[in-house]
Amino acid sequence: MTQLFTKTSKTAPADETARNAQLLIKAGYVHKEMAGVYAFLPLGKRVLDNIANVVREEMNGVGGQEVQMTVLQPREIFEITDRWDDKKVDNWFKTSLKNGTELGMGLTHEEPIVDALKAFIGSYKDLPVSVYQIQSKFRNELRAKSGLLRGREFVMKDMYSFARSQEEHDKVYEEVAAAYGRVYARLGIGDITYRTYADGGIFTQKFSDEFQTISPIGEDTIYVHEGRRIAVNEEIYTDENLAKLGLVKEELVEKRGVEVGNIFPLESKYSDALELFYTDENGQDQSVIMGCYGIGVSRLVGMLAEHFSDDKGLVWPKHIAPFTVVICQIGEDESVTKAAYDMYQKLTSAGVEVLYDDRIGVRPGEKFADADLLGIPYRVIVSAKTVAAGKFEVKARTEDDAQMLDLDETLQLVRS
Ligand code: ATP
Ligand code: MG
Repeated sequence: MTQLFTKTSKTAPADETARNAQLLIKAGYVHKEMAGVYAFLPLGKRVLDNIANVVREEMNGVGGQEVQMTVLQPREIFEITDRWDDKKVDNWFKTSLKNGTELGMGLTHEEPIVDALKAFIGSYKDLPVSVYQIQSKFRNELRAKSGLLRGREFVMKDMYSFARSQEEHDKVYEEVAAAYGRVYARLGIGDITYRTYADGGIFTQKFSDEFQTISPIGEDTIYVHEGRRIAVNEEIYTDENLAKLGLVKEELVEKRGVEVGNIFPLESKYSDALELFYTDENGQDQSVIMGCYGIGVSRLVGMLAEHFSDDKGLVWPKHIAPFTVVICQIGEDESVTKAAYDMYQKLTSAGVEVLYDDRIGVRPGEKFADADLLGIPYRVIVSAKTVAAGKFEVKARTEDDAQMLDLDETLQLVRS
């Protein structure tokens, strides 16, 4: 803790109205650069990476290959698909070269990825393929008042799939949808996250699938069917659409949702426009069927921070927390320091991430308040009293009562 450059603070910037950002700023996880633009500090970066790694593992699990596309994008490819004009896409950030050539700053990557794949995809043998990245996106959002939920610069996972037929695409699409379910379950919000029929965007005849997490801070209104574990976004909530989906109004409950992911069937809109074709077994040129799949990785940091919190601060689930254990050393006697250090060594060498509050001259109450604000899942107190008892005082962030455990018992508990 004495080496960690961030400190907790009692206040957040006056202009910060979103609770997720207030919590994360007070706990020193993020720094607000300006409205909708947040830097991730050491603790926040660990959380961001933990979430990104869950997403990465699940995308790898369905055959996704990770790449990193560029932020700077050429104008021409977006002109071909008619997405360059500010009247068509109103949230571009654009920049230009010294010679005046206009460039875009990545808000989505269908065009660049199709363009890059043209060099490699020619035959039916080259497909299917799925490519993804986890990267900063730039969108000139009109309002940025929801903290990390709506950034102007934010981290997204975007995957793009390429298939030989609609049938092959549908199979990939459902595999990715299932992987999304696993991502939200692993993040601890599986039970409150619903696959939600939404507007298909550019395609009026087809729906897209959003993943909406029920929350009072949600910006979207959705109608949930508990039994079928699906929902309908209000933007498509018409009698005609409900009939198409086999849903009746009486069975649906209105809720607020945070859009934590969105997947789209793209048919061959982008691939045809940018002339990415493949030749089939008979030597005939065929269209490539695409899908795109987004997850709001930094939005999830904010969503989870707010969802897993109480009046004392953050309450991270174990797999997302920046550290699993915080050791609060109370008192500076040699025996106390040694016991604390032994615990630190024992847990660390067993692969447990530990934050050691080795600060001297800080009141116990302040150390406990910081441990609570930071939301570390387990707090281990080492003091003259615990040393005398030959044990440690261990408490889960989610519980009120502590237990007295020895080294091995502590290790067992925090690894369970
Ligand atoms: P929204 O409706 O919330 O503006 P969107 O539909 O424009 O989002 P998509 O293009 O579907 O966003 O992006 C994929 C995912 O990226 C979204 O489901 C969301 O989780 C996340 N996302 C989109 N915009 C933002 C933003 N401004 N800040 C943080 N995350 C975002
Ligand atoms: Mg969306």
